[in-house]
Amino acid sequence: MSRNVVTFHYTLRDADGRILDASIGGEPISYLEGGGQIVEGLEEGLRGLAVGTRAEIGVPAAKAYGERDETQVQRVLKSLLPIEGEVQPGDQFRAGEDAFAPIVTVRGVEGEELLLDANHPLAGVDLNFEVEVLAVRAATDEECAHGHAHGADGADGEKDCGEGCGCHGT
Ligand code: ZN
Repeated sequence: MSRNVVTFHYTLRDADGRILDASIGGEPISYLEGGGQIVEGLEEGLRGLAVGTRAEIGVPAAKAYGERDETQVQRVLKSLLPIEGEVQPGDQFRAGEDAFAPIVTVRGVEGEELLLDANHPLAGVDLNFEVEVLAVRAATDEECAHGHAHGADGADGEKDCGEGCGCHGT
C-alpha cells in the first residue's frame, strides 16, 4: 500500500480562539501518513485533502493530547528536583536529564513542596487547526522503512534523522 508524505502549514487555536502555536512564518510541517508524527485527529482531518486546500479541522482533546489524568498531579519536595531559585505556578521544566523526559508544569507552591502536573500542557484541550495543504507526494521506501517523513522533498534524511531519531544507527 502506498503512503503519502503531506506538507502543510497550520495555525493552532484553543476553543477560545487564542493562538497556541503556528507554523506560518517558519518551516511547514511534513509528515508520513500513519507514522504518528502529528496528533491523530489532525491526521484524520488532513487525509485526502488536495494540494492548495485550506480547511479548519477541529480535534477533540481525546484525539489530540488526551484527557487530563489527575493522578499525574503530585506533591514533590522541591529539594528533590533539579531546579534552583524561585519557582512560580506556571513554570515548566523537564522531569529528567534526557531530551525526551516529560515536561511538568508547576501548579502550586506550598512551602517546601511543589504541586507538579505531568499531564501534557495541551491535555484536556480541544484544538482547532487552520491548515493549508502545500504538497502531497508518495513516500520513499526509505521513509516508509523509517516511519517518518524526510522533509517536504524527501531529501532531508540526514537532517530529520539526526539526533534523537536513531533510525540511521547509533
Ligand atoms: Zn529516517
